[in-house]
Amino acid sequence: MDPISRLAEYFRDFPGIGPRQAKRFVYYLLTRNAGTLDEISRLILEIKKQVHICSRCFRFFNAQNAAVGNVCPICADKDRDQSILMVVSKDADFEAIEKAHVHHGLYFILGGTVPILEKNPEQRIRSRELMNRLSDDVSIKELVLSLSATPDGEHTADVIRSLAKDIVAERSIRVTVLGRGLSTGSELEYADSDTIKSAFNNRI
Ligand SMILES: [Zn+2]
Repeated sequence: MDPISRLAEYFRDFPGIGPRQAKRFVYYLLTRNAGTLDEISRLILEIKKQVHICSRCFRFFNAQNAAVGNVCPICADKDRDQSILMVVSKDADFEAIEKAHVHHGLYFILGGTVPILEKNPEQRIRSRELMNRLSDDVSIKELVLSLSATPDGEHTADVIRSLAKDIVAERSIRVTVLGRGLSTGSELEYADSDTIKSAFNNRI
């Protein structure tokens, strides 16, 4: 296979990218100068070395600037409200919430959502890790399920509620979801800060 098609095959695997867009990326790269391509190649090579996954919230973070080993700066920040744990599906959702400056607690990245017909929901998300976190971390008083207002997002919230039923009852943890503001069908990742603020403040 020629290099254009080979590179396009890789881009095709990117989330939301189809074959035509993949080819467009390759042709775009061909218009860039050698310095830019060197920089992009270098960043791709470095990304796994410099960006680590946080052992508490499972978020990707730049380990070079981290104060505490394999824990991200947010998890290490004692000024954050340790009693509220917000569950989001992915890093892009975490970024949207942080940009809204409304949640001052901690996070947990699920790493996906559970499709409605999934037979093994535990394999689609970090459910075991979340349950461990809930049982180990005695400071948690509220679990905010911040999932997209889509069928998969709502189903994922139901799955977590049912998996965590015993732990939250035993530890008297309040479980909330984002309230009005997020219209049905909206992806959290694309919601603006005002919408997120209103949904968080109206969590139910
Ligand atoms: Zn973290």
